[in-house]
Amino acid sequence: MAEAIPSIFSIPLHFTRPPSVQDELTTQTSAAQQDTIAECLPFLTSAEDASKSPFDFNDHGVPRLDRQGHIDFLHGSLREFPAGFVAVDASRPWMVYWALMGLYLLGEDVTYYRERVITTFAPMQNASGGFGGGHGQYSHLAGTYAVVLSLALVGGERAYSLIDRENMWKWLGRLKKANGGFEVCEGGEVDVRGAYCAMVIIVLLNLPFELPSPIHTNVGTLSTFQQGLEDYLAKCQTLEGGISGAPGNEAHGAYAFCAIACLCLMNEPHIGLRSLDLPSLLSWLSSRQYAPEGGFAGRTNKLVDGCYSHWVGGCWPLIEGFLYGPRTALNSPTDRVLRSLYSKEGLTRYILSCCQAQTGGLRDKPSKRADSYHTCYTLAGLSSVQHVHFHVHQDASISSSTHPFRWRSLPLCDLVSSSAAGLCDRRHWPSPQYGTYSSSAGYGCVVTVNHREYQTDAYYPTEDLAKENAAMRAYLICRNFSVNDGMYPVGHDHGGFVQGIPTAIGTGRHSHRHNGSDTSSSPGSSPGRQGNLRSSGYGSSSSSYGSHSYYGSSSSSYGSSSRYRSIYPASSRRS
Ligand SMILES: [Zn+2]
Repeated sequence: MAEAIPSIFSIPLHFTRPPSVQDELTTQTSAAQQDTIAECLPFLTSAEDASKSPFDFNDHGVPRLDRQGHIDFLHGSLREFPAGFVAVDASRPWMVYWALMGLYLLGEDVTYYRERVITTFAPMQNASGGFGGGHGQYSHLAGTYAVVLSLALVGGERAYSLIDRENMWKWLGRLKKANGGFEVCEGGEVDVRGAYCAMVIIVLLNLPFELPSPIHTNVGTLSTFQQGLEDYLAKCQTLEGGISGAPGNEAHGAYAFCAIACLCLMNEPHIGLRSLDLPSLLSWLSSRQYAPEGGFAGRTNKLVDGCYSHWVGGCWPLIEGFLYGPRTALNSPTDRVLRSLYSKEGLTRYILSCCQAQTGGLRDKPSKRADSYHTCYTLAGLSSVQHVHFHVHQDASISSSTHPFRWRSLPLCDLVSSSAAGLCDRRHWPSPQYGTYSSSAGYGCVVTVNHREYQTDAYYPTEDLAKENAAMRAYLICRNFSVNDGMYPVGHDHGGFVQGIPTAIGTGRHSHRHNGSDTSSSPGSSPGRQGNLRSSGYGSSSSSYGSHSYYGSSSSSYGSSSRYRSIYPASSRRS
């Protein structure tokens, strides 16, 4: 009898089988949960399906991101819709925003859509301020939020000048309520969505925080948009620890994001979130992630759904901003060590294994169809797991508060050196050997993996960062080669991978396997090797998960991109 062939993929057991502890009480809810697990497991373990090509997965058994498929899907969702879509007429700004944001996250240039976006939204602006969801409709905060973000995404003076900021400010003044919250439209409901959307609009349009005069009777004694808002949001935290849409309602992932993000727009995160009961919020948020699925659910006893990759997943960077406080910068890989409070691996597995539709686009779960809403928010979640976010100190010379624009993100490359070491171990290659060198420009590094050398493409401020970069370059290429150095099968499109420079057998070979942290540093001397990999098409940063160079062109939804600065200069602020 033939011996079982060990799997070439490393998928942790808890992502491959149902939970070992089951609730004995069967209800409609528990049955739906069992169905969802049964639906997801084949996707989570598909790397081990003999009928699938192993080249479609990375070493962790995670499928690659079908980047082009998703780009095509999102461009398609900006074309004309069939007649049935009249039902979502009031969501026109959202349909535009989800597609543009998804494309932006995938690195596409969305300025191509600038004129169409302006032409679409111009008739939806009301003379009394704000935008309706469709032509002739009352202004609504949700639609206005999507319009403002869409205009910011396509950018340009013509897009920015479309917005009547003065009437927007006066309209927002009429939505503010004496309890601190905001109505979503005049005479509409007061909830956490309204507060979050209003604060995004105020900050991005650089509107005055003072309420416009004459002050509306709605607001009692309040005189600014922020007054009473912190208390209002704190009242939305429930007994469970999560946050509801309005005081007294059930906690929900999307409302939690709106409330937490709103507090972080009003104040720096290490101050803004003090009004919440953080231990119970952390407990509630943590409980939203399930195994084996790996994704997040929006409420207690609900099912995982790709869109909560953003609504719940997006809460974590903000909470980490609270816990770790403002930073000057992240200068060493140890700063980037995954001190994550949730399983980034689990969420990555769920998104890439279960949410990608074969026809392009991403979805809630395998049994659902892809749509631009889920595509946008699963990609935002994927970006979030692949970056480390931090809030930086304000320069003391700046008088006005700029904290909403002081979020920065860096790609996570903290574990690349250990991933490279793990790869060598699985392939039975000698452990990676690092050689760093320095110049006035910083540090560079050459790493030897499988008798070939891979060199950094630039200089880095620390030796550790140089090592990580070299490890990343080696890892991205070497993971495509098998134990015996074999290349792809004949006829397989291997995408033009370029191996490193061969070294003589025996050079730098270690006599025993050990941790990849081993270095042989030679400061002050450059090995003088040419960057033979510079033309190989790999960026200086990428993920150990997922696609060909997903990072190369993507940005975080909290990123440091200039798009996320106020689109109006400080001089235009009324005061
Ligand atoms: Zn959903």
